[in-house]
Amino acid sequence: MKLNNTDLLDILACPRCKGSLTLLTEGENHVGLACDACALVYPIEEGIPIMLVEEALTEAQWQQGMRKAK
Ligand SMILES: [Zn+2]
Repeated sequence: MKLNNTDLLDILACPRCKGSLTLLTEGENHVGLACDACALVYPIEEGIPIMLVEEALTEAQWQQGMRKAK
């Protein structure tokens, strides 16, 4: 699945507040979608966004690199 950034952001909204998301990238990889309103980051694993509130990390957890602990 290869979506460009605009496609991704058109499709996806925060499952908690239905707000818009900011795409987080590392190099050419999409690694997460951030909701500023909720201060949550939804991880993107293997190119698939995990749009579940239970799976989301807080921005603080994300910045501490918790996504790499898996
Ligand atoms: Zn939100």
